[in-house]
Amino acid sequence: MADFHLLTTDWYRQNHRDLPWRNTNDPYKIWLSEVILQQTRVAQGLSYYEKFVRNYPTLESLASAEEQQVLKDWQGLGYYSRARNLHFAAKQIMIEFKGNFPSSFMELKKVKGIGNYTAAAIASFAFKESVAVVDGNVYRVLSRCFDLSTPIDTTAGVKEFQELAQHLIHPAHPDIHNQAIMELGALICTPKNPECNECPINSICLAKQNKTIENRPVKSKKTKVRQRYFHYLIEDSRDLHLTKRSGKDIWQNMFEFPLIESSNEIEFQLKHDELSNLSVYHSEQITHLLSHQKLNVIFYHIPKIREEYDGREVHKIPLERLSEYPVPKIIENYIERIIRQRK
Ligand code: SF4
Repeated sequence: MADFHLLTTDWYRQNHRDLPWRNTNDPYKIWLSEVILQQTRVAQGLSYYEKFVRNYPTLESLASAEEQQVLKDWQGLGYYSRARNLHFAAKQIMIEFKGNFPSSFMELKKVKGIGNYTAAAIASFAFKESVAVVDGNVYRVLSRCFDLSTPIDTTAGVKEFQELAQHLIHPAHPDIHNQAIMELGALICTPKNPECNECPINSICLAKQNKTIENRPVKSKKTKVRQRYFHYLIEDSRDLHLTKRSGKDIWQNMFEFPLIESSNEIEFQLKHDELSNLSVYHSEQITHLLSHQKLNVIFYHIPKIREEYDGREVHKIPLERLSEYPVPKIIENYIERIIRQRK
């Protein structure tokens, strides 16, 4: 066990990437980076981190921003509930914690959107609290190094890996220890084709010895993907006609074209036939993948948009004011296409 800590942290000191959030003890900036990097590659997250630090340099500035602007700045990064929670949490810390960033694992978990992983990351990186982080990289490194076959998506698996990670942590260097395992998972012990020859723990890695690397970590279930069927309506006029999404669903509080959603493939085809007759033309079908959803989308250009669709008011937005309205990537791409065609 001591070997594990020494080998990983020695390697980390010599090989880690120099990333801006690693050069600060400011819990606010560490929190920003952790939220941005969830489900996001460092290469993509870096520019968003820089933008957020620039536009919202302090917790107060984020708390006092408009949610619509925060969503706009998040545009393109996906998983928009992260941005909404970030903004909500900033206001929560200003009120409930009087603007003082919570400084312990248990206090951090009281903040909206901060779960075990993020709380452990902030507590260990900013406050040197000896609490282990367990993210996808850590699951992979530990399951391989200790050749553990307990599925990581079960209660028993979560408990076992959390306990092991906590057992391994070095109380004097919890920050470097946590960073080292995550960096090892990101750079060397990758999901496919890990670089075992370069790995600092290859001499103690049991999955390597037992030739089980490809089967670690184990997951019990496959992610279920929900199929959804979207018809977007577009009026060919100078202004854009957008509605605001609401309710507990993807892209909450973001803007999109007026939407008709079909509940299954048959309805989708029927609606497609009906709208195709009405529309001046329609674009080809586009498939847009989210983590648990597959969106089947067609855009229809119709002569006239109504004032309301499905209880959602239609906002008439001049193109030059589009920068004020957060839109999902698929809508952003289609608007760019419209603009190109108009030129
Ligand atoms: S030896 Fe290979 S499988 Fe084992 S921890 Fe290192 S990179 Fe991962």
